Amino acid sequence: MPIRLLDETIAAQIAAGEVVERPASVVKELVENALDAGAQRIVVEARGGGLREIRVQDDGCGIPADEVELAFARHATSKLNSADDLWAIRTLGFRGEALPSIASVAQVICVTRVATAELGVELRIAGGEVQSRLPCGCPAGTTITVRNLFYNTPVRREYLRSEASETSAISAIVQQYALAYPEVSFTLVIDGRVMFQTAGDGDLRAVVVELYGLEVGRALLPVQAEAGADELWVAARGLISPPDLTRSSRNYLAFFANRRVLQPRGALAAVVENAYHTMLMKGRFPIAIIDLRVHPAAIDVNVHPTKSEVKFRYAAHVHSVLGRAIRDALISGADIPVWDAPDPVTAQRRFELRRLGQESSPAPSAWGVGAAAWDRERSRWDVGSPAAQLTTPLPLPSPPAPAAGPLPDPGSPPSPPSSPAPSGSALPPLRVVGQVGLTYIVAEAPEGMYLIDQHAAHERITYEKLMNQYAQRAVETQQLLIPQAVELNPEASALLLGNAARLAEWGFSLEPWGTGVLVRAIPATLPLDELSAALHEMAERLAGRGGSSPLEWREAMLITLACHTSVRAGQPLSHEEMRQLLLQLEQCASPRTCPHGRPTMILMTPAQLERQFGRRG
Ligand code: ADP
Ligand code: MG
Repeated sequence: MPIRLLDETIAAQIAAGEVVERPASVVKELVENALDAGAQRIVVEARGGGLREIRVQDDGCGIPADEVELAFARHATSKLNSADDLWAIRTLGFRGEALPSIASVAQVICVTRVATAELGVELRIAGGEVQSRLPCGCPAGTTITVRNLFYNTPVRREYLRSEASETSAISAIVQQYALAYPEVSFTLVIDGRVMFQTAGDGDLRAVVVELYGLEVGRALLPVQAEAGADELWVAARGLISPPDLTRSSRNYLAFFANRRVLQPRGALAAVVENAYHTMLMKGRFPIAIIDLRVHPAAIDVNVHPTKSEVKFRYAAHVHSVLGRAIRDALISGADIPVWDAPDPVTAQRRFELRRLGQESSPAPSAWGVGAAAWDRERSRWDVGSPAAQLTTPLPLPSPPAPAAGPLPDPGSPPSPPSSPAPSGSALPPLRVVGQVGLTYIVAEAPEGMYLIDQHAAHERITYEKLMNQYAQRAVETQQLLIPQAVELNPEASALLLGNAARLAEWGFSLEPWGTGVLVRAIPATLPLDELSAALHEMAERLAGRGGSSPLEWREAMLITLACHTSVRAGQPLSHEEMRQLLLQLEQCASPRTCPHGRPTMILMTPAQLERQFGRRG
């Protein structure tokens, strides 16, 4: 066949394959055009999964009547003047591909008017061919109606999923833009029913309340950070969920870069999830809405036709600013759950404080004692403040004898001297009052009365201790005087022995023995009577994901060992044991949750006690 140029319509249909994959991509392009036109109000309607009809109405600048046909020509754009502009794109569109692509695979009606014109224009175009162009009366702005999408490309139509899943993809994309542009009012109408409507008053939290409900809206923590200058300038703002509020998928992650909606996966999702390190349960994901801004020259949006992927020129820098911002938000927002007595006043107040982005812990002098006075008081009751312990670390203890039970080692320094506890953990100094139900430690601090779950707290301590030891390749081991034989099923022992080298890094020395394994050494933190249960659990985790990544492997080991190492519920603790436990907890980087993400403590404030006892109204 001779070489010839493709005709316009076929070329547009090929391009449409890239830009218009499914109804949701039409919605995306039309919403972006409306935003570029400066719209303050955007109404998106879809029928029949968007295949029968999509309509996007805006109150933006409109298209001049004599340019409306041009808008549907390929590579026609009002948004780029020269190639240089490509390096500092400030609009969402710039390729001039969306309208011609959509018009090549659907029947399109464009009704538009610029504010200064008396009459608007209605252009009808189908399969890339202009059908009619008539003057018409209409409000200022643009309404684009797209009917019978893919009517002339049946193959593409067949690739679509069910109407319901196309509808939900449309809803997801409109939600993302509503979150990205809280100052614009979005309305989504599906098959004639209003699904949501945002106010467009600039309040991101109000958008979250509309989309995700009041509970979530109230709970989210503010993120705010700014760093660098010129091309290295990065700002991150948004809202994230506290660790105890999670979802089972990544569908609640929303990332924007210079006001573009990005795919909620890849490097940015990893940065966010890593910032929650150990605070989330396996398979759970946070809710996060993150608005990133960088210098326009430090971002390349011309990576993909749908523009949903971008390249940061200084990606590592952006990631580190974001990671730190989220970590800070989690630490300052990490709430010790407050005793859940009916107390609307306090709940409201906590909500207000969070809205203002302020620390939501109660004032440090709630008992009526100043912080300094408290420290003095406490040091009379207890032996030394945790700060004093840190600066004069005690000598490293010999590993505790396994028979001594899984108690926190009183002689060990709170954390290895090379990795002092971050000051940001901000757990108040706690004074032990006693133990209840052989399960909870009662303690007090300036903020009020704490109930601490002894098992969860010790899990957290052991977890961080092991993590530090492992990071320094120095997991303490104890050689067993009498090697222990552990019965296992053949698969389990094969799995463990097959990973013997990796397990040795964690202090295990294993050999084949009958149908099980012979254990010659174990991590110092593991009590001997937990050995069998721990090995079974490790084998189970190994079976669960054979080709797991080193990080997953590390996480699985840490969680298993921490869990089997810990003080159990139902175990009596002496006053001194409780005191040591709390001192070590105070040194943890994330003392308020156990490695599974559950709280280690709850707080009852003096004000609540007073109210419960009717001392105050
Ligand atoms: P791009 O957005 O990349 O410029 P499009 O094909 O999406 O390309 O749109 C072509 C042009 O049509 C735009 O540059 C803009 O001038 C005009 N246009 C499209 N939609 C609208 C709208 N909703 N309001 C005003 N102008 C619009
Ligand atoms: Mg566009």
